Amino acid sequence: MIKIRDLIHDYIKRDEEGNPAGTVRAIDDVSLDVKPGQFIAILGHNGSGKSTLAKHLNALLHPTEGTVWIKGMDTKDQSLLLDIRQTAGMIFQNPDNQIIGQVVEEDVGFGPENMGVPTEEIWERVEESLKAVEMYEYRKKSPNRLSGGQKQRVSIAGVIAMHPGCIIMDEPTAMLDPSGRKDVIDAAWTLNRGEDITIILITHYMEEAIRADHVFVMDKGRIAMQGTPREIFSKVTELQRLHLDVPQVTQLAYILRENGLDIPEGILTKEELAEALKKIGKAG
Ligand code: ADP
Ligand code: MG
Repeated sequence: MIKIRDLIHDYIKRDEEGNPAGTVRAIDDVSLDVKPGQFIAILGHNGSGKSTLAKHLNALLHPTEGTVWIKGMDTKDQSLLLDIRQTAGMIFQNPDNQIIGQVVEEDVGFGPENMGVPTEEIWERVEESLKAVEMYEYRKKSPNRLSGGQKQRVSIAGVIAMHPGCIIMDEPTAMLDPSGRKDVIDAAWTLNRGEDITIILITHYMEEAIRADHVFVMDKGRIAMQGTPREIFSKVTELQRLHLDVPQVTQLAYILRENGLDIPEGILTKEELAEALKKIGKAG
C-alpha cells in the first residue's frame, strides 16, 4: 500500500521579511513499508516529523530526496495526484476545518461528486459510509450541531465515500473528549477489520496504539523505534528518552516489576496485568 525509500524533507526557513534563511530537515532518511490491510500507529513527540510524513502519503508535500509510492504510484508524478488523493485519504486534527457541507449527507457526498461518481451511486456511498461510522441517523443534521467526535466521524465518512485503500489520520482525536476519542478510534478499527482499509494513525495517546499491527516511533525526523506494540511498550526507558509515555497499565506493570514482582515485560492491558498478578498470588 505504501512504500517509502530514503525520504528526506527540508522546509525552507524564512526570516521576518519572508526571505529564505536556511532549511529545516523535518524528515531525515525514512524508509518504510505498509502492507494492505495493516493498522499502523505512528508515535513521536512534537516536532518529530509525523505530520510532515503524513502529508507525503497524500502528496500534499513532495520529497526533497527519496521516493514515496502509494499503491505503486510515485507521489512526484503530478498526473497521478487525484488517484493518489483518492487512494490515500487524510483526516486532520481539527474537525471544524474539514467539514464544508451545510448538511451531514451533503458533506459526505462532496468527495465522490468531485470524482464524477454518478448521482445514484453517490447516495449509496453516502449511506454506506455514514453507516460505517455510525452516523447515519444524523444524515439530515447540520454539522455545526454535532460534537467534535461526531464531526470527526463525518469527516471519516467523507473519506470512505471515495473508496480509499488507505486512510491517514493525523492526531484525529487530539481535540476530542474521551468518549469522542473512543468512538473515532472504534470507527477506525471497524474500517480496518471490516472493510480492510489500511489505517495510518498518528497519535499522542499511547493507549490508541496498543492494538496496532505495527508501531513506528519518530524522533528528529527519523524512525527511532519500530515493532509490535508489545515490543515497543516493553522498552519503557527508551520511550522516556524520546519524551514518550507508555500506556498507564504498562507503566504500572513496569513499576511493579522494578520492585521485584514477577511480572512479564510489555503488559498492555488491564486483563494481562490481572492475569500476571493472579499467577503471583497463586505462587505465593
Ligand atoms: P510533528 O507532526 O511530529 O509535530 P511536524 O512534521 O509538524 O512534526 O514538524 C517537523 C519539523 O518541521 C519541526 O521542526 C517543525 O518546526 C518543522 N516544520 C513543520 N512545518 C513547517 C513549515 N511549514 N515550515 C518550516 N518548518 C516546518
Ligand atoms: Mg503534527
